[in-house]
Amino acid sequence: MSAKPTSRVAIYPGSFDPITYGHEDIIRRGLRFVDRIVVAVAQLSTQRKQPLFTIPERLELIAEVFADEPRVEARQFEGLLVDFAREQNAKLIIRGLRAVSDFEYEFQMALMNRQLWPEVETLFLAPDVRWSFLSASLVREIASLGGEVGDFVAPPVRARLMSKFRRSPARGRRP
Ligand code: ADP
Repeated sequence: MSAKPTSRVAIYPGSFDPITYGHEDIIRRGLRFVDRIVVAVAQLSTQRKQPLFTIPERLELIAEVFADEPRVEARQFEGLLVDFAREQNAKLIIRGLRAVSDFEYEFQMALMNRQLWPEVETLFLAPDVRWSFLSASLVREIASLGGEVGDFVAPPVRARLMSKFRRSPARGRRP
């Protein structure tokens, strides 16, 4: 007798400004454990700097990067993550851990989210070592200074970064 199939959904929250190979790696690893991942793009984030991409742009880039993967969906979210997770019927939150420096904040968030909704669980995944130093803020900075980001982001993201900075003479490298 087989058990009734239930779809396991996880939320992967973050700012994704923009999505990097590090994020992609975490999502693809996460897909080994769940049926569907909702990438939850936060309007507000803990990052202090102004965002580079608008929410619709960030959602579009995630959709482009995962065009071949129907199990990944990108959605905007505001407010409490646990409320969004409940709405999506997701009892699992996925987060990536790069280095020890990520740990304290991530641990605090995981315990707070559990306090707010005891049924929710946080799953921490380590990326491939190639991405363990990578952050979206570093990618934004390199791109803004005219550096090559092709090793860190997918081609559509790279193209969008390049056009962003080309259109901005104050920050671009145009002679
Ligand atoms: P960033 O810190 O790059 O701006 P986000 O705020 O969008 O990223 O992060 C969303 C989640 O993805 C967080 O759990 C973060 O730790 C994780 N993450 C970001 N970059 C990487 C990476 N290179 N490897 C593993 N996890 C990552």
